[in-house]
Amino acid sequence: MPKVIYDYNKCTGEAECADACPVDILESSENGRWCKPVDDEVENKDELDKYYKEVEPNDSSDLTLEFEMPSCIECQACVSSCPEDAIKIESD
Ligand code: SF4
Ligand code: SF4
Repeated sequence: MPKVIYDYNKCTGEAECADACPVDILESSENGRWCKPVDDEVENKDELDKYYKEVEPNDSSDLTLEFEMPSCIECQACVSSCPEDAIKIESD
């Protein structure tokens, strides 16, 4: 299962990664401060819960979260588009 790994210390939320994704599985957060996978795409929902509980409320979160993403085709377009080195893709 491909994994999208966000470093929320570095992410600025400008959504370059979401714009670059050819299968549209990344999006901006509601407050526009971060990017994240779309909820329906995330396999490990506990990580999504962590995102909403720990990242969204904090301005200076110290978090790296890994989301299992079944539709990710591992094209690395999101990684190439990120100016902050805040997103990585890994395969198991
Ligand atoms: S491109 Fe990088 S800095 Fe911009 S929203 Fe995506 S992960 Fe965050
Ligand atoms: S690797 Fe490609 S398909 Fe997967 S999240 Fe990044 S841009 Fe989207």
